[in-house]
Amino acid sequence: MEAYVIPIEDKYIIYRPLLRLAFVGNQAMADLALSLADNDPSSGADAPGEIVSFLDKIGFLKPDPAPPPAPDPAYRPTTAVLLMTNRCNLRCTYCYANAGVLKPEDLSLELAQTVIDQVCQNAIERSRPHFDMCFHGGGEPTQAWTVMKEATAYARSKELPCKISVVSNGVWSSQQRDWVLNNLDNVTISLDGSPETQDHQRPLASGEGSSRYVMETVAALDAARLPYGLRMTATAPWRGVFPEDVRYLCEHTGCRSIQVEPAFNIRRGEHQESTRKQGEAFVDAFMEAYEIAVQAGRNLVYSGARPWLLTQTFCSAAYEGLIVNAAGHLVTCYEIASDDHLLSDLSTVGQVVDSRIEIDDAARDRLLSMLDSRKPTVCRDCFCRWHCAGDCYTRSRVVEDGQVVDSLARCDTNRAITARLLLWYIMACDGVWRGQSILTYPPAQAEQACATVEACRPL
Ligand code: SF4
Ligand code: SF4
Repeated sequence: MEAYVIPIEDKYIIYRPLLRLAFVGNQAMADLALSLADNDPSSGADAPGEIVSFLDKIGFLKPDPAPPPAPDPAYRPTTAVLLMTNRCNLRCTYCYANAGVLKPEDLSLELAQTVIDQVCQNAIERSRPHFDMCFHGGGEPTQAWTVMKEATAYARSKELPCKISVVSNGVWSSQQRDWVLNNLDNVTISLDGSPETQDHQRPLASGEGSSRYVMETVAALDAARLPYGLRMTATAPWRGVFPEDVRYLCEHTGCRSIQVEPAFNIRRGEHQESTRKQGEAFVDAFMEAYEIAVQAGRNLVYSGARPWLLTQTFCSAAYEGLIVNAAGHLVTCYEIASDDHLLSDLSTVGQVVDSRIEIDDAARDRLLSMLDSRKPTVCRDCFCRWHCAGDCYTRSRVVEDGQVVDSLARCDTNRAITARLLLWYIMACDGVWRGQSILTYPPAQAEQACATVEACRPL
């Protein structure tokens, strides 16, 4: 049985991730739970009967179910991801791609069509009811407007239905807005919060704030009831500011799901690792913001902490995405929009040549083995292993002296938020979390949940 004890103040969260079971206990309970999980039947002999029967009653003594399946190594992706352009109408202060200022590079329609053909064919061979296509970045996809419309028409003309989405900054003309509302199935808008935050972090190329334009877009999405999500980037000082930005989005948009990622870089065109202090500030701010979101009936997500999810892969891009950039290279992450990216060599697993997809099997094997490299080592005894699954490789690998090396800077943040979410779930479930979804907890119950910390069993 796989079990962990996670210290939290003077007690422990006792956690069976595969069973989706968590509760709080003292040192004696933690010791007992670990030895029972180690299949030491004698360990319960001296324990008070009421404690053993409590563990039995909540299901702690059950064996583990099968772990989530490993991804299929055969590469038959059914999602086309088109990295459209490095041009952008914004100049975000933290932009990892340094978009808008580099020599313009756009994806051609021919490259898009080749990738669409391949994923449609894969979906047919895999008996899928549809294939997917996503317009993504390296810049703002709607800047490559003609190709975006033509690729959409092409995908819609295929023999299988296509679900089409875009990840965008939401600064659109009214014609673009009408077209998106009428032609796409799902939208993710990058929006950082209040006008003050948004205008400071995400100005237009002219320097003018972008908030009022993006809020117009979001209002149109709400009015049209088109499914959409918001993607926030939170920067220092986090505490105080970020929770209020989440409150603003809850009060001024109808969005049900908000994803936030912290940015620690102070220059455009790079990712920077967090210091321990920065990570702690983000964790505190995230939990404050989480509570605000839940009380408003919204879902706030940080990618490194997903206790509701059991998986063997941090993300499906390297398995289910056929991701093409303007150079015609097939890459394994949405962020590798150009060959200038530091992880571009590692992430390039093929190319489009003469309207044909050529996969470099050796490069792909190298990439997959890098994705798995942490699992038997640093992740092996980590209570997040089935949720974080080795983390996002572009955020947890850095290049030093030309070599790709592991960076564990995000692990503390991932573990701290996962543990605090588990504690929150335990409180919300009267002391024992059995995998229930807390994401749509109604405000009244959420308030009650916050008051039931004492209900956590102090055995
Ligand atoms: S973060 Fe996105 S919207 Fe902002 S400058 Fe970069 S590509 Fe453009
Ligand atoms: S938090 Fe770190 S050690 Fe734990 S699963 Fe994620 S990458 Fe592995």
